[in-house]
Amino acid sequence: MFSGSVTRSLNTQATLGRHTCSPTAVPRLPALRGYSGLRPGVWRHRAAQTLQPCSKALLQARAFGGLSQCVRAAVAAPAPPQVESEPAPKELHGFSLVQQEFIQEYNSDVLIYRHDKTGAEVMSLVNDDENKTFGVVLRTPVENSKGIPHILEHSVLCGSRKYPIKEPFVELMKGSMQTFLNAFTYPDRTCYPVASANLQDFYNLVNVYLDAVLHPNCINDEKTFAQEGWHLELKDGKDDMTYKGVVFNEMKGVYSSPDSVNNRYTQTNMFPDNTYFHDSGGDPQVIPELTFKEFQDFHGRYYHPSNARFWFYGDDEPQERLRLLGSYLDEFDARPVDSTVHLQPLLKEPKQVTVKYAAGEQSEEPAKAFVSLNWVMHDEPLSLETELALEFLDSLMLGTAAAPLRKALNDSGLGEAIIGGGMQGELCQMGFSLGLKGVDPANADKVEQLIISELEKLAKTGFSKASIEAAVNSIEFDLRENNTGRFPRGLSLMLRSMSAWIYDRDPLSRLRWTEPLEHFKARLASGEDIFGPLIQKYLLKNSHRIRVDTLPDEELAAKQEADEKQRLGDIRRQMDQTQEQGVIAETLELQHRQETPDTAEALACVPTLQLEDIPKEAASIPTDISEQQNVTMLQHELFTNDVLYMETALDMRTLPPNLLPLIPLFCRSLTQMGTQSESFIDLTDRIGRQTGGLSFYPFISSRRGSSEPLAYLMVRGKAMAEKAPELLDVMRDILLTARLDDKSRFKQMVLETRAGLEAGVVSSGHAMAAARLDAQRSIAGWAQEQTGGLSYLNYVRDLSQRIDSDWEGIQQDLETIRKALLHRTGAVVNLTGDQKTLSSAAAPVREFLAALPEQGLSGSSWQGILPAQNEAITVPTQVNYVGKAGNLFEDAGYQLHGSSYVINKLLGTTWLWDRVRVSGGAYGGFCDFDNHSGMFTYLSYRDPNLLKTVDVYDGTADFLRNLQVDDDALTKAIIGTMGDVDGYQLPDAKGYTALMRHLLQVSDSERQQRREEILSTSPRHFKDFAEAIDAVKSKGQVVVVTSAERAQAVNDKERPGFFNEIIKVL
Ligand SMILES: [Zn+2]
Repeated sequence: MFSGSVTRSLNTQATLGRHTCSPTAVPRLPALRGYSGLRPGVWRHRAAQTLQPCSKALLQARAFGGLSQCVRAAVAAPAPPQVESEPAPKELHGFSLVQQEFIQEYNSDVLIYRHDKTGAEVMSLVNDDENKTFGVVLRTPVENSKGIPHILEHSVLCGSRKYPIKEPFVELMKGSMQTFLNAFTYPDRTCYPVASANLQDFYNLVNVYLDAVLHPNCINDEKTFAQEGWHLELKDGKDDMTYKGVVFNEMKGVYSSPDSVNNRYTQTNMFPDNTYFHDSGGDPQVIPELTFKEFQDFHGRYYHPSNARFWFYGDDEPQERLRLLGSYLDEFDARPVDSTVHLQPLLKEPKQVTVKYAAGEQSEEPAKAFVSLNWVMHDEPLSLETELALEFLDSLMLGTAAAPLRKALNDSGLGEAIIGGGMQGELCQMGFSLGLKGVDPANADKVEQLIISELEKLAKTGFSKASIEAAVNSIEFDLRENNTGRFPRGLSLMLRSMSAWIYDRDPLSRLRWTEPLEHFKARLASGEDIFGPLIQKYLLKNSHRIRVDTLPDEELAAKQEADEKQRLGDIRRQMDQTQEQGVIAETLELQHRQETPDTAEALACVPTLQLEDIPKEAASIPTDISEQQNVTMLQHELFTNDVLYMETALDMRTLPPNLLPLIPLFCRSLTQMGTQSESFIDLTDRIGRQTGGLSFYPFISSRRGSSEPLAYLMVRGKAMAEKAPELLDVMRDILLTARLDDKSRFKQMVLETRAGLEAGVVSSGHAMAAARLDAQRSIAGWAQEQTGGLSYLNYVRDLSQRIDSDWEGIQQDLETIRKALLHRTGAVVNLTGDQKTLSSAAAPVREFLAALPEQGLSGSSWQGILPAQNEAITVPTQVNYVGKAGNLFEDAGYQLHGSSYVINKLLGTTWLWDRVRVSGGAYGGFCDFDNHSGMFTYLSYRDPNLLKTVDVYDGTADFLRNLQVDDDALTKAIIGTMGDVDGYQLPDAKGYTALMRHLLQVSDSERQQRREEILSTSPRHFKDFAEAIDAVKSKGQVVVVTSAERAQAVNDKERPGFFNEIIKVL
């Protein structure tokens, strides 16, 4: 479980240019613990979101970086006409109604209740959204960095009173139709949300979560604490003793990432006096100080209904919610719980701190620092309108690449990428953080001076009318569209409401935005200087300002490792024979328990759906196909609340292959340098004023039965229906006349890209490994790696040198790309909206297509492929990412069958989960079968092991052969798979899925066939698949991301010559 954020997730698709496209919509790389991510950055040009899959990192990233986009996306206004609500009963099932109100912004009747006996608060939203959401949130402030709330968050889902099995959470992952299942640890609260569009499934989820939170077995079971938190591991007196534990290892991974370390120290220094000073996720140096007693006490103190807030949302019966909840709460009595989050008093003087992160040995370039300025903005409550005004200010200063503060930092050349990302509104006090990474330490003062002088300038001159109009339109568009991607709308609303409610403020305040917005717009229209005074008061004249310089330290990683060894050595020396034997016995006992499955009878306690509950027919998406000017047009008539969604896929196979790695930067350049007739700033304002966002990115995939890859440049955009002509005008102007000649802007993008990729190798090494493995086996994989993998990183590094020596050549290359791609032959246009919206788009689309040249360059041949070999990619890190893959179609002659989805799901939630995560101590272990290319890939995430994990992978076929899969387990796996196949989608996602099916030639009849194969999966299929998968063991390759020392140790000692190549990246 990780603390999640709306737009950040383990989304390898975005980082690698991979896109979900299987006929079943099973993500190419399943996200860890059930959170399959959104596609960040697709819609808006806001700074690219960092993609991090776990808890503290996420939470800190969430609290301290670029949040406003998701906050905005969270605000919402569904369309259907409102129905006034009936008065709710004043008293029911032990609850008293405190407040009832219709919130027109969400077309929801909101009922707020208090549980009479315990004082627990409940918010119950009644509306027509079938994606029902439930959540329980507890205030859990910490007094140290031992990671108690984080370890508890993991542990409570490991068995409870009514569900006394090892991991009910995993059983739900296997066999539920859930649309969301996870848990988050914030710096001051812990949040347990679930969602499902199936009513019975929803009740099952609510029951399991309530029982887990209120009656977890972990508080009486030290073994769970050892497994999820930390323990000493020793299997044999001859071995070295080590620390193990899922959270321990997860946080080691987090602390290996310089960006996370910087975030952590930033928060610590911003809040020297309250709970935010500590790391609720846990500092791996401190986690081993945590005792089981402290862990128990923490649960006893905070996990009580009197300290809880409950949330329900959706189209289910509201009275049943109270009955169900009451049945859990009635056995508790009210109790005072002091969980107040104390305010950080504002400092009287600004201060400056210097901290260190572990860096690799430096190459020829100077050491790079993170430099940021950070403010806590207030220590008394803000009015809603002030909050809103600050949100607008943030958007105006930083919301787009053309926004003045962001642009000034980018243009300064002082660093490689922006950090901090501006306003943060999720904690008790709002903060503002901004700075650069990749800074020469000698320039640190200049970064500070630049930010201050830009703020002074903005306070004086304000913003242009066009920019203000663009910001207002963008924010209103997001509010109205309420597009939360794959994140349930109810959950995004809960998080928004909670950021006031958790501090005992009005939980509805952040949901009622129409009035303050209108009032705010009126003030803007009157010409009042709103923003100048805000900048003065909350930033320039605010003395609670902390500058944090985070500097590289080449020795730190080695020192940390040595310290840990020393500590473990000391412990060992102080042990006598009996104590040592005790550790061995406990290690083996824990391992035994982890490897002993729950019995079928025990597992039956977790409620599941039956196969009869699953529709037999595959649902299809309405699609009308026509031909226009040699272009295929797909139209999907769906209710979209007057928004038009449009994709244009331009055939990319005409591109000379050596230019592939330049494609992502070409895509970015299109909107970053202006057009022939307007400046970058004017273009950005136009996009903001007239559209809901535009994006350009490559889509590359294998197609089953063909060695030729699919490759398209995707042009994606959306706008209100009446703005369709403007949307298409701006798309046309960008494609035809975007300027590609701004050298300094280009250089900035190159440096930013390089910094992002380098950070990505450390924090998402599994994605890098997976791309590399694909590139060894198919042209599509190779092309993807050229635009998102290690080859891409190398290209970008070269490019950063080449800019100064050969800018003209680069410009020519960019123009060649435009010539190659800009043609309508082979293009596909995809439109989604209701009938009226689609017809309003018809004429503008015709004109748009007519403006594109008929032919581009003549076709090129893409032949590249990397040698198939074992590789170690090395970076400074304390954890490993281990990948192994083979091609089942080529290596084993496997014929695609729907049962493979079920088996894949089952492996990820049983064999790999148990061996790689639970007993191996990695944060995640999973597999992925790409049914287009035939690649079967195993991956681990933040893994303490390396060869041991490879051995687990190699044992998969035997596991399948020996598996006695009983009916219940099989049914569960089938239902869980159907949950993925039938995943809930908002209308724009449906339209996009239909486009993918068209491009990949996945017909409705094939989908129906796979569905029937999934539903009729039998034990025989497991044996068949075992034979196929054995080919990965014998013919597959291994690619890992690890430290240089570790790679060397493998090649020198553990398995001589195992890696054909060791590639140092950092
Ligand atoms: Zn976690």
